[in-house]
Amino acid sequence: MSARADVVDAAGVTAWLRAFAAEVSARRDELTDLDAAIGDADHGVNMDRGMQAVAAKLSATGEGGPAAAGSGETGPAGDSPLGPLLKSAGMTLVSTVGGAAGPLYGTLFLEMGKAAAQRTTLTAAEWAGVVSAGVAGVQMRGKAEAGDKTMIDALLPAAEALRAAAGAGASLPAACRAAAEAAGEGMRRATPLVARKGRASYLGERSAGHQDPGATSSWLLLETAAETFGGAASADAASGHAAGEDS
Ligand code: ADP
Ligand code: MG
Repeated sequence: MSARADVVDAAGVTAWLRAFAAEVSARRDELTDLDAAIGDADHGVNMDRGMQAVAAKLSATGEGGPAAAGSGETGPAGDSPLGPLLKSAGMTLVSTVGGAAGPLYGTLFLEMGKAAAQRTTLTAAEWAGVVSAGVAGVQMRGKAEAGDKTMIDALLPAAEALRAAAGAGASLPAACRAAAEAAGEGMRRATPLVARKGRASYLGERSAGHQDPGATSSWLLLETAAETFGGAASADAASGHAAGEDS
């Protein structure tokens, strides 16, 4: 399935959700190991269960489009509204994932869905608004601030970078790449910090020096968005490589 390069549409969002599910699955043990160090060793397992359920739902329902018939790999019609698609993913995560991350990622997608509503395509600037609404929902729900060493440390700078890039006239691919880079930087900046929210906060000072599992999965979410909406070959954000292309 190919997503349109200039706007976010239902085919693009479906491809993104599938790409994130695949990435979480591939990195399940890595995410769980990160959580073993400062949590309860279930983040990879939690996220994999949730995203596999999201992917299964996309295949089962076609999410509003006839394209899914028979193949199991395709999804919605290009003119499907984005709100119901994103909300459905959020509901699935809330209902299949326990712990902190399920409700928080569920809220992210639910709030993105509310913001996208019946829109069928989103420009870079509109996508930045939708992502920002999702991140605001996560903050509202989890009450974490920047620097608390949570997924917010990756999500907040990503949303800011997305808005800044789109506001400056960057193309959708360039804006998504900027967001992924910012998420990776935010994730790395949180590693030396002491956790102030979630299970890791129970460790106090001992949480410092460990990479946060939720910030890591959030970086992967933004990375897969950049790969999906960027249309380019996969880029390894850990290497700090940037597309360097705007408008
Ligand atoms: P649990 O902590 O319940 O076992 P997970 O292991 O799946 O859930 O997820 C842990 C991640 O959730 C943490 O690494 C952190 O990024 C994120 N997290 C925990 N509490 C919060 C919060 N209040 N706000 C934002 N993110 C949080
Ligand atoms: Mg955990």
